[in-house]
This record gives sequence, C-alpha cells and structure tokens, in this order.
Amino acid sequence: MGVARRKYFARLRSVSDARRLIPSLERLLESEAFVDILEAHPRGLVVQHLRTELDRVRRELGERADPEAPPGDVEDPKLYAAGVDERLRASATPSLRAVINGTGVILHTNLGRSPLADSALDAMASVARGYANLEYDLDSGSRGSRYDHCTALLRDLTGAGGALVSNNGAAALVLALRTLAFGRTVLVSRGELVEIGGGFRIPEILESSGAVLVEVGSTNRTRLEDYRAAAEKNDPAMILKVHRSNFRITGFTEEASLEELVGLGAELDMRVVHDLGSGLLADPERLGLPAEPRPTESVAAGTDIVVFSGDKLLGGPQAGILLGKAEWIERMRKDPLCRAVRVDKTTLAGLEATLQLYRDPETALREIPVLAMLSASPEALAARADTLVASLAAAGVPCEAVETSSVVGGGTFPGVELESRGIRVESQEGGADALARRLRNASVPLVGRVEDGSFWVDLRTVLPWQDAVVLDLVSRHVGQ
Ligand SMILES: *Cc1c(COP(=O)(O)O)cnc(C)c1O
Repeated sequence: MGVARRKYFARLRSVSDARRLIPSLERLLESEAFVDILEAHPRGLVVQHLRTELDRVRRELGERADPEAPPGDVEDPKLYAAGVDERLRASATPSLRAVINGTGVILHTNLGRSPLADSALDAMASVARGYANLEYDLDSGSRGSRYDHCTALLRDLTGAGGALVSNNGAAALVLALRTLAFGRTVLVSRGELVEIGGGFRIPEILESSGAVLVEVGSTNRTRLEDYRAAAEKNDPAMILKVHRSNFRITGFTEEASLEELVGLGAELDMRVVHDLGSGLLADPERLGLPAEPRPTESVAAGTDIVVFSGDKLLGGPQAGILLGKAEWIERMRKDPLCRAVRVDKTTLAGLEATLQLYRDPETALREIPVLAMLSASPEALAARADTLVASLAAAGVPCEAVETSSVVGGGTFPGVELESRGIRVESQEGGADALARRLRNASVPLVGRVEDGSFWVDLRTVLPWQDAVVLDLVSRHVGQ
C-alpha cells in the first residue's frame, strides 16, 4: 500500500463514519468534474441524478460490513460525475429500440413480428407527419369513414364481399364473436381450443365476447356429425373454426372441412367464422412452404367471416383483418366494440401500402421483408455469410460460416425448418453467453443464438443492409 493510500485509510479510521467524507451537493456541482456535464445538460436534471447518486454512495457506505475495506475515493468528485453521467445516458436511451434479429425466427413476436416494406414505411410517415383524410371524404368535403380505407383493396385481393380492419387479430375475433353470437352458443372442435400466444386462449376469448362455448368432438377427431349433433342440442349462432397454426396433430385424426361446415351452417341457420391466424396472401409454393389455408380459399368456401392478423405472414403492420359477407361487416362496423378496437391512421396507411404490393405477386415477394426472408435461397445467404466471415477474419475475429435452420415463427408452420446460413463467432472474453450479453447491450442490440458454446447469427432474419452493422458490432464486442 502506497503512502497516500495508507494516510487515507488512517484518516478514514479517524473519521468514525466514512459517510462524513462525502462532499456536499453544492461543492460537487462547483467542482471541475461537473463542468462538462453542466454545460451539456439542464442543471435541474443533473441535480436530480446527483442526489440519487449521493444517496447510493451513502447507502453503500452504511451497509459496508467491514469498515477497513477500501470504500473507493468517496471524497473525489469524479466518482459522482461518472455516476451522474451514466444515469444521464441511461435516461436518454429509449425503452423501445430497433434491434437486429439474428435468431432465425422470422415472425419473432417478442421482436415485433413483421418488419415493414419501404413503401409501407413511407406511407405511414407521410400520414403521421401531418393530417390525413382518415375520416374525411375529399370528394364531398364532408365526414367520411376510416373503415372505408383498405376495404376495396382487401375485397379485390380476396374476393370478399366486405372487409373491416381492427387493431389486431384477437380484437377482430372478439368483434366477430360479439356481433354474431352475443349471448348465444358457439360450436368449436376440441382439437381447436388452442392458445394463440401471450396466454390468450380461444375459450377465454370466446367467453370475454359474451358467447357461450360448446365443445365438439375430441382432440384428434371431430366429424361433421359431431357438429350436427351438438347443433341440434344447443341451438348455436355460430360454428367457429380455428386454424391450428402453432402446432400439429398427426396420426389418427379427422376433421370436418370448411365446405362441410358451411353446408351445415346453411342447413341449420348458423354463421361460420374462420380464424385463420396468419393470413398468407402469397403462394406458399413460391415460398417453399407446405400448403396453408388462405383467406381467398376461405372466402370462396362461403365462410361468413374470416379473421387474420396484419403482421404475420401478410407482412404488414399490427392489425386484425375481417373479411366476409357485406351484411355482417356492416353490423360489425356499427358495434360499439368496433370503436374500442379501432385502427389508427398510420396502421391503415401501412396496411394499404403493403396490400398494394400484392397486386403483383413478384413485387410482393421482393418488397415485403417477411416474404423476401422466407424466399431467400441458401445460396444467397451463404454468399452473405462468406463475405461477412472474410471481413470479420480480416479484423481478427475467430468465426466461420455455418449451416443452420430458420423457422417461420409467430405461431405459424410448426415443425417447418428452412435451410439457412449464418455465422458462428467464438467469444474472445468470457464465454458465448457473455458475448451474447454484450451484443444485446450494444448501441444497436444484436440478438442471436448461443449454441455449442459459440454465438450464432442466422442471416435469414438479418436485413441485407444490416450485414455491415453486424460486422461492426461483432468486431467491437467480441473481445471486451
Ligand atoms: C395469432 C393468432 C391470433 C391473434 O392475432 P393477433 O394479431 O396476434 O392478435 C388469433 N388466432 C390465431 C389462430 C392466431 O394464430
């Protein structure tokens, strides 16, 4: 121990309580260490953070079990300046931030599901920056309806008689159930009483909309005759068919087709509502995906109402879309609940621009990020991985290009794996978990996977322009 240090401890011992060495708030604010901070930030804010910092130091000194242990230089204003600086920085960082998704899960619900097309972003910014004709008819110069936007496009693209947009898929389903089955019974197959994520379960959604659930058939087999028997006993207003999008039932299974249910509905005066979940408008074959029921087919089968999300396989902003017979759509528009779950102008603008891209299927595949990610070939991803690895290796980062597999996510296509490519990085300090943590806390957070003791980035979910950001982040954080 140096002489200065020894003197310091001698003095500490002579002071019965180290807390007495803490400088006053005024002295600290006048010190050299606070000059820059006070120049860059409002004084009131600095004082507020300094008070918190002083409290922290006082508390820590008070809690010290061993009075002999070095307390840090409690007299030095720099200690407080550093603490205040950190607090100022943390309070300036927004809570909701853009992150890079290196997980390989395309519709990652925790990372905000679907990234948007450029034209959707432009449209959203344009109506958000100023005013918009949200509920204003430009022809007549009088009041219009927000529910008229997107409607013609949705009808054109799917063949539906009417269309309505709400703020998410779950809200759309509640709206359909409430309008068509409030106080009445609804038949649902036991194989379709699913949890759609975030703890939301079909029986609970149904109950909250004021309808009464009647379970039909068994988990693995529900025949048309089961629906008929339940209908004759319960006088239901509706059959709800739910697309089991997030898991598979295989083996000894059987279910009534949508066409059969529509036929039964017509015969026994029941509406048929189809909750599709993901609402794929593109051709699954072009995306290398197995067949998936699509809104257009569901409408063509004669379903009364089809419900799906805007931000799953459609690739638009968070929204719930209702398609179906004009008469029912009209009733839903007038329901008070429709007001409670109404969609905002930016969402409508983003959804309309996204739907416009579907007028040409090739444009949709190229411009809608979710579809571009789904259709990216392993060769194209391998080329990006090789380029990235070459640049990282040149910067001295131990890494290699790897084969991996992505999933669609968002509760869709369970069990389907997409052959993908990425990079695998060896942490140069701490293990892979430590590297993953450093990258999550980086200025632009990069979320990847830890596998076999390395950090993995699946390039399918990294937008191509983000490769340069990944290069920068990984080389800066791999070793400290
Ligand atoms: C995702 C999903 C919903 C809910 O849609 P959100 O837009 O997330 O509210 C409803 N039903 C099914 C079958 C789903 O997969």
